Amino acid sequence: MGLNLKNCPRCGRVFPAGSGRDICSKCLEAEDDDYGVVRRYVRDHPRSTVVEVAEETGVDEEVILQYLRDGRLMSNSFSSVINCERCGKSIRGGRYCDSCLNVIDSQIRGVDPPKEDEPKAKNLGKSSKGMHIKNNIF
Ligand SMILES: [Zn+2]
Ligand SMILES: [Zn+2]
Repeated sequence: MGLNLKNCPRCGRVFPAGSGRDICSKCLEAEDDDYGVVRRYVRDHPRSTVVEVAEETGVDEEVILQYLRDGRLMSNSFSSVINCERCGKSIRGGRYCDSCLNVIDSQIRGVDPPKEDEPKAKNLGKSSKGMHIKNNIF
């Protein structure tokens, strides 16, 4: 009673959820090692890019981006080199800007994203013959 257990999203182990952490202590330890290395490197080399940090520390670029996404790692130089992979806007962390994240998020949930590329357009020319949709398009 009262003890909440969660599954670690990384390794699947069950661990007490009360600690305010999302991963189990084992994964946390492993991550803290990487995190410590990355953080130290960024502090010593404040102008390096994510790619450079990844190469120099041996920590996966995705992991570093995850630190940024989580707000655990902040670097001024990072914020100017990371661009949204979708629209190219400069962002502080992660892979996408907020507005693209919204779109992606709604796509994942199966909700209609804001209208973008409806495949309708290409049918218009062909199918107009003999159909009564003319007045209903808009
Ligand atoms: Zn784990
Ligand atoms: Zn974007």
